[in-house]
Amino acid sequence: LTQRLSHSLRKIINKGRLTEDNIKDTIREVRKALLEADVTLSVVQTFIDNVKKKAIGYEINKSLTPGQEFVKIVKNELIVSMGEKNNSLNLSIAPPAIILFIGLQGVGKTTSLAKIGQWIKNKYKKKILIVSTDIYRAAAIKQLQILSKQIEVDFFESSTNEIPIEITKKAIHHAQKKLYDVLLIDTAGRLHIDQKMMDEISAIQTLSNPIETLLIVDSMMGQDAVNMAKIFNKKLFISGIVLTKTDSDSRSGIALSMRYITGKPIKFIGTGEKLTSLEIFHPERIANRILGMNDVISLIEDIEDNVDQSQVQTLTKKIKQGHNFNLNDFLIQIKQMQKIGGLNYFIDKFFKQNSSSQNISFSNMDKHALNKVEAIISSMTPKERLQPVIIKGSRKRRIALGSGTKIQDVNKLLKNFDDIKRIMKKIKTGGISKIIRGIKN
Ligand code: GDP
Ligand code: MG
Repeated sequence: LTQRLSHSLRKIINKGRLTEDNIKDTIREVRKALLEADVTLSVVQTFIDNVKKKAIGYEINKSLTPGQEFVKIVKNELIVSMGEKNNSLNLSIAPPAIILFIGLQGVGKTTSLAKIGQWIKNKYKKKILIVSTDIYRAAAIKQLQILSKQIEVDFFESSTNEIPIEITKKAIHHAQKKLYDVLLIDTAGRLHIDQKMMDEISAIQTLSNPIETLLIVDSMMGQDAVNMAKIFNKKLFISGIVLTKTDSDSRSGIALSMRYITGKPIKFIGTGEKLTSLEIFHPERIANRILGMNDVISLIEDIEDNVDQSQVQTLTKKIKQGHNFNLNDFLIQIKQMQKIGGLNYFIDKFFKQNSSSQNISFSNMDKHALNKVEAIISSMTPKERLQPVIIKGSRKRRIALGSGTKIQDVNKLLKNFDDIKRIMKKIKTGGISKIIRGIKN
């Protein structure tokens, strides 16, 4: 996609304003990107029409091509469409604040309940009670009980002999009596939407009057998930969505479809089976993922004001083409990184993401250190810069002397260079922008 995009971006170089004509190619690429991300077809059409209407006539920023300008508008629109960063549950009500978890079977209701229970506990230090009304499988109640121990919140015991509405009544009563701040109610799902389930949830909802009713949606279900959410939203009141299993290879487009079709905010995403694998929904991250245009997006969004674009672009291109990363590139790279926000953060991010934990010593690469790096590299011959492997003992001594540094400094720099070269190899496909995305995220 990136290649296709940059091709169409390059083709259009005339500046001025966005016109139907000068964004034609880019629109096609954006449409492809949305479809590739598995955004529902009807949503793709409506979305693109809306953005197009907004974009035409828009003045083009001097440093951008019309295509880039358009992509920028698309990205903003994606973020707006998917809602504000929604990082809080509404708990402002006379206690107990009740949160109802609903959705089909196996989508991750019980797991999400535990994750969110833990999140509320850590964030708000509230007194929490959880209860299961899933009487159809004895294991379901047990499952929640086990999870309650793991997250260390209180569990209200229920049994398969009771009916859900009775359990709910008792749990609420108990929560009121014992002054719980929050009551989380788990419900039973079914494999498919059926009337009995809807009636049951509806009865629980009417009785408990929850301040939040979270629809749990399995992102692996793709378009089915969207259809399902549509029906739930029509039949029951829903205050927000939790998108689970986003760690699978599901497409991000579902987030946009979900929001467009239900109009309800996505509050959290589940990112794994562990109880800590829960994230607040960040529309910006998803927008980047949907567009998938790692290079394009970050080059225009993040680098625009901070960094010399042409240098970064050249470097990204070189790396992509398999160009041998050398010390000249290294110098450009760390200078650009500095402008964006510090190497350490990036290294942290990057290695966390890649679950590798090399001990990379970029620490304290401040202005002073950067000057040193520059001095050292300047004292090298062109050949040394291109082929740092040849820098051995006597060369090191000469370079240290020439740059007013110590041999240890030269060694350290060479080690850092090797480290970053290794990274560059790993991320050849994403180039610098992946790093920058790492920083942004
Ligand atoms: P429920 O039937 O809706 O209550 O679903 P469960 O909470 O029992 O979850 C069903 C399965 O999905 C379990 O194996 C969970 O570990 C798994 N699961 C839930 N959320 C996630 C997630 O975000 N990522 C992954 N990989 N697995 C998840
Ligand atoms: Mg369950």
